[in-house]
Amino acid sequence: MRRVIVPAAAILVTFTTAPPVQAEPQQKVPVAEGYGGAVATVDLDASRAALAVLRKGGNAMDAAVAAGAVLGVTEPYSAGLAGGGFLVYYDAHRRKVYTLDGRETAPAAMTALTLEGLNFDEAVTSGLSAGIPGTVAQWELGLRRFGTLSLKQALKPAIEVASRGFTVDQTFYDQTAANAARFKDITSTAKLYLPNGAPPPVGSTFRNPELAATYRELGKRGVSWLYGGRLGQEIVATVKNPPVTPGSTRNVRPGLMEVADLTAYRALLREPTRVDYNGLQVYGMAPPSSGGSTVGEALNILEASPKVGLHEYLEASRLAFADRGKYVGDIPGVPLAELLSDGFAKERSCLIGDRAMAHPAAPGSPDGDYAGCPAPAGASPEVASEGPETTHLVVADRWGNVVAYNLTIESTGGNGIVVPGRGVMLNNELTDFSFGPAPGDPNLPGPGKRPRSSMAPTLVFDHGRPVLAVGSPGGSTIITTVLQILVNRYEFGMDLPAALAAPRATQRNTAQTQAEPAFLAAHQAELEALGHQFAPNPEIGAATGLEFLGHGRIQAAAEPTRRGGGSALVVQPMR
Ligand code: GLU
Repeated sequence: MRRVIVPAAAILVTFTTAPPVQAEPQQKVPVAEGYGGAVATVDLDASRAALAVLRKGGNAMDAAVAAGAVLGVTEPYSAGLAGGGFLVYYDAHRRKVYTLDGRETAPAAMTALTLEGLNFDEAVTSGLSAGIPGTVAQWELGLRRFGTLSLKQALKPAIEVASRGFTVDQTFYDQTAANAARFKDITSTAKLYLPNGAPPPVGSTFRNPELAATYRELGKRGVSWLYGGRLGQEIVATVKNPPVTPGSTRNVRPGLMEVADLTAYRALLREPTRVDYNGLQVYGMAPPSSGGSTVGEALNILEASPKVGLHEYLEASRLAFADRGKYVGDIPGVPLAELLSDGFAKERSCLIGDRAMAHPAAPGSPDGDYAGCPAPAGASPEVASEGPETTHLVVADRWGNVVAYNLTIESTGGNGIVVPGRGVMLNNELTDFSFGPAPGDPNLPGPGKRPRSSMAPTLVFDHGRPVLAVGSPGGSTIITTVLQILVNRYEFGMDLPAALAAPRATQRNTAQTQAEPAFLAAHQAELEALGHQFAPNPEIGAATGLEFLGHGRIQAAAEPTRRGGGSALVVQPMR
């Protein structure tokens, strides 16, 4: 027998060379798997910032704030420090789920009549639509309660990206171009986002030194600089007197915000919503978001349904939206426990027949008295139009803490008004209120009230162990996107990347179900035969998620193509 003689040097090389350090991808990659922590966002710079924080020993909350602040630079039309958001956090040490409400509030001077008679488009680009920003207070609360970094430290990556700049991609260009008509009517916005009178070209480097300076100053002076201090005063001045371009004919209505509204703002820790669904525990955002209650109710309805297919998915969503419209808002006495009860779900579920139910589905009676299949009475308010944009990120760390975080300035480009000299876009979140007249609507504006949201950052557990984190942008389609991903994953057996990539349809108690072209191509005929009607929607949602695969292994998933695709990264990639 011939012996193979291995040269000693080769053995040495084999056993003493450190394992090759895997270079981080230079481009967005939508799926990553590995150990030690993970992140998925829509943006490579934001995901990298989170990864760097995790690698330096920061935890999931630190990384989420760092990534959120970077998104304020690279996704400034979706998120920013003058916006708001909702964050669901699993604290592995305490084995407890917390939710942080950083939703914008209405000024004290706002009433149920303030928006009445305005059309949506008039309201969007105005001082009137700007809510009291919640994001910075939420970051501060998150870091103080759960993080290890100071706000100043957490803002560092964002300051760097804002100073050195990022590469303009097609999505950023398209979003700027779509907003160019209104951006041009605001001097500060045109100066920043329409340099030379046009959107920055794809491939160019976009810098926002004023935003870098704003973040730097915020880190130095602390949150009171915004909540009552100089930055707050400038925001109020901008809201009250928007810098309209001379000669513009746009009627940019002034807002009602006062410095006292900023001083009064608080980010809040809230109890999460929870439903038990096929042996899993699903946690989400309670009011003022309708995310947790509507996703949860629909899951309960599906659990009570004898079979679950796409028809049942659409019908359960239709019913849950009918109840959302009637019962959920930032008001006392939302019947949350009943909306999420199995008894109510059973009563609702028995309305699902072989054919699509008549439009609109009426709300049910979450009154604790559930027997039989009562004929519901009365119509539910129509789903108000909501902007299609915001962003969602997920992060997990080596200790098992998990974040699902939606942050937003509402419409793509918020209210279109950059605070002069500060590089920050204001939100138009108050357009999430019902405009009225709508007696009895739980979502009419009121002083200090938070507009009802659809944001649905969601964590799923199996016997107390996190198994999934997921969320999406997309206004009220956020709810159906999250629901459909969960149905894809847990009813149809897809893995997480497939569940995210699968074509989407959204039924929100509307006459027609909006659906992506690929969904229509695959399912339109079969569902129309059951009485469903469809309208095409080119793209629904832009989700991010994490799946915990056991033994510390994490799969991070972002969109492969929607909104230009997202970026998933893990601390120690699998080889
Ligand atoms: N403002 C929306 C909400 O809170 C989120 C922004 C969007 O995705 O349109 O539901």
